[in-house]
Amino acid sequence: MMKAIRRHLGWKIFLSYLIVLLVGFIVLATAAEFTAPTAFDRHLAAMSHMMMDDTSMMGEATDLELDLFTNFSNALNEALGLALAAAFTAAVVVSLIVSRQVVAPIRQMMFASQRIADGHYDERVDVPGEISGDGIDELGQLALSFNQMAAKLEYTEDMRRQLIGDVAHELRTPLTTIKGSMEGLMDGVLTADVHTFQQIHRQTDRLQRLIDDLQELSRVEAGAFEMNLLLREVQDLVEITKTTLIRQFEEKGVALNIELDPGLPLVYADEDRIGQVLLNLVGNALQYTPAGGVVTIRARQEREEVLISISDTGVGIADEHIDQIFTRFYRADSSRSRPAGGSGIGLTIAKHLTEAHGGRIWAESPGPDQGSTFTFTLPVAG
Ligand code: ADP
Repeated sequence: MMKAIRRHLGWKIFLSYLIVLLVGFIVLATAAEFTAPTAFDRHLAAMSHMMMDDTSMMGEATDLELDLFTNFSNALNEALGLALAAAFTAAVVVSLIVSRQVVAPIRQMMFASQRIADGHYDERVDVPGEISGDGIDELGQLALSFNQMAAKLEYTEDMRRQLIGDVAHELRTPLTTIKGSMEGLMDGVLTADVHTFQQIHRQTDRLQRLIDDLQELSRVEAGAFEMNLLLREVQDLVEITKTTLIRQFEEKGVALNIELDPGLPLVYADEDRIGQVLLNLVGNALQYTPAGGVVTIRARQEREEVLISISDTGVGIADEHIDQIFTRFYRADSSRSRPAGGSGIGLTIAKHLTEAHGGRIWAESPGPDQGSTFTFTLPVAG
């Protein structure tokens, strides 16, 4: 019995109600016992005063009083006993119902957490009370937090599953091409010339890039990288990117313009990491802009931030994709970027690196074929 009480919150609540009830009854009975004789005497004295004026009847009256008091006391005890029994039964029933109601959501959360532990991540609990209004108590808050936690776990699990699927898919495409080429060479269907070897080399290159990207992604997602924050000029950071990419811009026939506001403040930045963000954004702008297009890097100060934006006159991004492109492996148009070797990881890495600097990153585009602008911020060095 004691074990059951110790292990069940419902029993504990019920028992606490019972203790309160018992104390109440004891106090009630004792108070009635103590106050009844005085009340009775007072009542009887008033009655005698009204009904009996003859003093010769005093002795009889005292015996009568005693009889009357005994009867009154018995009647009072009987009424009190019956009332207490009825009240006790009602109180027990009500306490059972109330304690069950208090415990029910907690039990539901317990079962739900067990189901989540068994891999049923879609499990949720009912939130008692009004969610919209102020009428949500601590239990309701707990249920709400529980559901939020379950939703987060479900999302993480979905991402993990999706990641494994995506990695397998990304690895399969180049591997299938390499395998096909090798089989063609072995069967004599393909000639062992430079073209065939170049094709195989391109695919191994793609595999290499994917593995490098994945390694980098896992490092930035885990926050397992060191930041070497130093005071930097935005112009220097931009110039390094320009020097790295200018040949590719010229080869493709895309113009690269730089328009930085004069007097930009210094920023705290890890040159390599911000270089990586810039390289990724400007590289993407080049990749998604056809020959004859223009890519412009701009920078301006807004309050305590420096905003660096990369605009292009390229393929643009449809509204439905714009919020998703920072999600790993997401490609606005898979058929478009796949042959170019894009794995949809670059922007995810850029987002993590920007946020590690205390900045933000977002994309804007008026629509397909109308170009796009990627902007990231760096806090002004205070
Ligand atoms: P990827 O290696 O595929 O370019 P990213 O993470 O860098 O991976 O980009 C994710 C997706 O965002 C791209 O596949 C592309 O659909 C879209 N995207 C990125 N930059 C641009 C851009 N400048 N113009 C149009 N679409 C872009």
